[in-house]
Amino acid sequence: MIQTPELNQIFNAVIFAAKKHQGQVRKDKSRSPYVTHPVLVAQTLLEIGGVTESNILVAALLHDTIEDTSTTREQVRTNFGEDVLSLVLEVTDDKSLEKMERKRLQVLHAPHLSSRAKLIKLADKLTNCQDILFSPPRDWPLKRRQEYIQWGADVVSQMRSTNPELEAAFDQVLADAQEQLGFAVQPFTTINQRPWAP
Ligand code: NDP
Ligand code: ZN
Repeated sequence: MIQTPELNQIFNAVIFAAKKHQGQVRKDKSRSPYVTHPVLVAQTLLEIGGVTESNILVAALLHDTIEDTSTTREQVRTNFGEDVLSLVLEVTDDKSLEKMERKRLQVLHAPHLSSRAKLIKLADKLTNCQDILFSPPRDWPLKRRQEYIQWGADVVSQMRSTNPELEAAFDQVLADAQEQLGFAVQPFTTINQRPWAP
């Protein structure tokens, strides 16, 4: 059972994320408010993954703030503490790098994340791949959607045995993707065979 002070921090994180992502939209046809994504990641952790540790749920709510908004490390530390900041930083890409390089590094870094950060990364990949299937970005051709899901599968392949329920849900997305996008997700062998390879 999540206690009242922890629940309060969770609500604070929802409000903080909503303010920081204000004006940003997702890439789907209806341009959903961006904050719906981190909220869904936190909800997925709780409902599918059975994760009730509040700092993990708070970090999930904040997971895109430093990467995608003007939020500073100091703001996260002051409002939510060092532990939440370190979880958020573990799942934050270095935006100074090229996008393909960032994709490559996500695959390479995934096995070295802490187990708590892996949970957030798993829920993020699960919800993003579900979005690619059911509310995809406008104007993305089939091939780009297939490539994105292949990349998501590669990242998740490096974090197996973390949370069986989240991984089973991800496997269901892969099965749906194979059926609906008409392609076979390849098992991860070597990153050198991928478009995001060096
Ligand atoms: P992007 O990184 O451009 O977009 C995917 C990201 O957008 C997701 O990881 C998610 O990140 C966020 N997002 C927002 N709305 C949605 C939504 N509705 N569904 C899913 N994700 C959403 O995509 P790529 O990984 O394909 O692009 C990588 C690079 O390759 C870019 O430089 C791109 O320009 C280039 N490129 C690739 C092509 C291809 O065929 N693969 C074709 C042309 C260009 P978050 O969780 O952080 O919000
Ligand atoms: Zn995200």
